[in-house]
Amino acid sequence: MIRTVLGEIQPAELGITLMHEHIIWDWNGAEKNGRVPYSKKEIVDTMVPYLIELKRLGCQTLVEATTYGAGRDVDVLKACAMRTGLHIITNCGAWDGGKYRGKFIPDEIKNMDANKIAEAWVQEFQAGIDGTGIRQVSSSLH
Ligand SMILES: [Zn+2]
Repeated sequence: MIRTVLGEIQPAELGITLMHEHIIWDWNGAEKNGRVPYSKKEIVDTMVPYLIELKRLGCQTLVEATTYGAGRDVDVLKACAMRTGLHIITNCGAWDGGKYRGKFIPDEIKNMDANKIAEAWVQEFQAGIDGTGIRQVSSSLH
């Protein structure tokens, strides 16, 4: 079973899969996360034509690797999946940012011990992300 933002599918349904993509990435970093100057509708309306073209070219699944703290927005991913028919898979975890070290890790995570972080991510896995019921497939691919 594979978890997508619209629910579970069978592995045979994956088809051609892009394993590490970003529909949205917030370069502002975690401290300004959620304050991008675009509405969710603008993001979806901008990205859907590209995703439809991707599907037309034969892609059936996209693994969206944007992490919590870097603009992950499961509402946007769900809307894109619904409008395109693409299977979209999201993830949990945070990215330390390589040369942007720490920029994409929200303060609340920086101040948590490892057990609390693990607990939060297990909660996302079991109950869903941001109260949506949308569950991630795996830890961050970064
Ligand atoms: Zn990436």
